[in-house]
Amino acid sequence: MNLRADVIVLGAGMVGVGVALNLQKRGRDVVLIDRRGAGEETSFGNAGLIQREAVIPYTFPREFGTILSYAMNNRRDAVYHLSALPRVAPWLFRYWRESAPERIARSADALAPLMAECVKEHDALIAEAGGKAASLVYQKGWLKCLRSEESMRDAIAEAKLLGEYGVDYAVLTGAEVRKLEPHVSDAVIGAIHFRGSPTSADPGALTKTYAELFVQRGGRFLKGDARRLSQEASGWRVALESGPIEARDVVVALGPWSDDVFRPLGYDIPFAVKRGYHMHYAGKGNATLGHSLHDAHGGFALVPMSKGIRLTTGVEFADRDAPPTPVQLARAEPFARALFPLGERLDEKPWMGRRPCLPDMVPVIGRAERHRGLWFAFGHAHHGFTLGPVTGRLLAEMMTGQTPFTDPSRYSAERFRH
Ligand SMILES: Cc1cc2nc3c(=O)[nH]c(=O)nc-3n(C[C@H](O)[C@H](O)[C@H](O)COP(=O)(O)OP(=O)(O)OC[C@H]3O[C@@H](n4cnc5c(N)ncnc54)[C@H](O)[C@@H]3O)c2cc1C
Repeated sequence: MNLRADVIVLGAGMVGVGVALNLQKRGRDVVLIDRRGAGEETSFGNAGLIQREAVIPYTFPREFGTILSYAMNNRRDAVYHLSALPRVAPWLFRYWRESAPERIARSADALAPLMAECVKEHDALIAEAGGKAASLVYQKGWLKCLRSEESMRDAIAEAKLLGEYGVDYAVLTGAEVRKLEPHVSDAVIGAIHFRGSPTSADPGALTKTYAELFVQRGGRFLKGDARRLSQEASGWRVALESGPIEARDVVVALGPWSDDVFRPLGYDIPFAVKRGYHMHYAGKGNATLGHSLHDAHGGFALVPMSKGIRLTTGVEFADRDAPPTPVQLARAEPFARALFPLGERLDEKPWMGRRPCLPDMVPVIGRAERHRGLWFAFGHAHHGFTLGPVTGRLLAEMMTGQTPFTDPSRYSAERFRH
């Protein structure tokens, strides 16, 4: 006999787990399917920041000089594989187009309601999941470290704009930064302290803890290949090794692999990945780090985690499955060592992940227009760890006929059809 459920959620990263939990809360019988354990891919290796402040999307540069400097391909914050350019260029052009000031404002307006609720939705899950989840999150905010008067002025102007979206921040002098973090270099002349953005000391473990909550509450988490999805008269079926499972609704939450499922179903959504890397380090001597640091000049973040100090890199444009080329890590490391006294590397090799992106840096959340019972929750770019639970809430509200807490039309995949 075939297994049945109300909803199949494909992908157990932070987004899929957030969707599964929210549907379950609303009385749906949910099966979560992944080919691995929960939170073992992109949701494992990110910087762990729950970025309440991330209302304004990361954009493609518009000034000629900056574009030229990116084209030289020797920067730390963004690099590309020359061999992948023919495939990536059309998407990059759309990304450039979506980075015009009026379009950035539109993306910010779309991201703002999600960001405004992101911490609350994580907090609710942390409270429900209990002590283990709470021990994986710290509430100190993070520091955007600045090295010049000019970057300080720009960062203060941006922070003021974010303040209008309800973001809590403080402008710190260099001395104030070193009061919080005594080992940070004198080269840092100030920082913006985003006080309302928590960090997880182990984002993969937090995702697993949420997935465990889903299972404790009676949810089923099964191993399987999402590409074995097919549409049937009664809904959707996934052929698992253990036998088929069927449901009326299915949610595609496969992060950077979402196109493996939506493209064969005929959806031409402009989807690409921005790859990134991490490496853990020991503190040198007695140096300890309490706050997450982002160094805009160096193009990296340093985050205190359970496994050591995690350095995460900027963006690499490349084919999703091309072998790793962690040149950015090699370029960022000397800057990171100059910012903060890092000791030896703690991992055998760098971790690589892929940020799933739409050109406007706004996720796709909602109904797939041409198939009954097919739903999308992917493309969270730089902020899927932040947005998983709130995405789950919004999609579950839409799927169960509740009034969505914000207008969902701006997250529709249809926005790219004109
Ligand atoms: C270096 C770096 C730093 C980042 N820092 C942050 C940060 O500080 N804060 C933040 O909010 N975001 C950050 N991000 C982005 C964030 O990690 C992603 O947006 C988020 O993890 C995406 O979550 P997801 O659930 O959509 O995808 P994933 O976590 O990748 O989950 C997708 C799941 O689908 C499964 N899957 C794929 N194909 C199949 C298949 N065929 N069958 C079955 N299962 C399948 C995978 O096994 C995986 O479990 C960062 C990303 C990178 C790379």
